Amino acid sequence: MEFFDSLPMHWLAVTTLYESLKDMRQLPAILCRGYGYADGLFAPGKWDNPDFGFTVDVPVALSDRLNKRFTASWAQAKTFKSRISFEVRTALLVLARLATIVLFWTRDLTVLQMIAVLAVQQLAISPLSLVPSFAWSMTDADLRVSHHLVFAVLSAVWYALVPPEWADMLSLTITFEFCLGYFLLDLGVCAYLTLFGKSAANRAVVPPLKALATSVVWGSLTSRTYPFVLCALMHGTKVNFALLAIDAALSATLRCAALVESVTKISPFSIQYVAHRLIHLPNFYDHGHRTHHGILESNSTRRASRG
Ligand SMILES: [Zn+2]
Repeated sequence: MEFFDSLPMHWLAVTTLYESLKDMRQLPAILCRGYGYADGLFAPGKWDNPDFGFTVDVPVALSDRLNKRFTASWAQAKTFKSRISFEVRTALLVLARLATIVLFWTRDLTVLQMIAVLAVQQLAISPLSLVPSFAWSMTDADLRVSHHLVFAVLSAVWYALVPPEWADMLSLTITFEFCLGYFLLDLGVCAYLTLFGKSAANRAVVPPLKALATSVVWGSLTSRTYPFVLCALMHGTKVNFALLAIDAALSATLRCAALVESVTKISPFSIQYVAHRLIHLPNFYDHGHRTHHGILESNSTRRASRG
């Protein structure tokens, strides 16, 4: 089975990731603060201000070491002989995602839970996506850890102080309809920004209809259908928007994430940089990232980030 053949490649990915992240910790402290909210580095408008700037000294030895390591990993990754072609692999992944969507419409909780199990098929079809997926999921690990820490405290205080009949006035339970609504909203926002985006940069990249249609189909199948899988995992979870609003007003999660970064000396940018180089290694690329680069824009938040 391809998964077992690929085990040495997994080891290669783990060691490349580990050693490179160790190097990234040597970066000047100011570059190790992705959510550097507390020191105002990412205050709104800061980067647009022509007078804003800072200088850092990055040791050349560090970039040399990183580049050398990736050149070595590149040569080794090339030696892996894939049994499944990129086209067949893509077809299998698409079939699995389509099955997820079809099952989603049953609206049966047991079937929804089966979808979560079905999502694991990715490792049989694209085994080399395992370590890069894990690395990518670590990108905002500090934010997630902080979210859980902050929300544990916030909810404890909220539900202790607010009368029960008021406490959940702004709460919403994640259901089939919630996920479907999210999917449609994302699709709509994406379409709006693509066709009527205000900024010149956005309008300039409106592609020809055929390219746009291709991207809508591929983008929907890869990124936009995640809510269907997530729905399976989060069905029944209660989201309290009042707590989200308090957190946003206090920037509590962001402040906590900045603290985690200053302690670990690993920023989302370091992880993203290393993980991205990892998924561009030969063979790894075909297992999880090649399709992404064929898509123009995959969801509304990416679209919005273009202005
Ligand atoms: Zn890429």
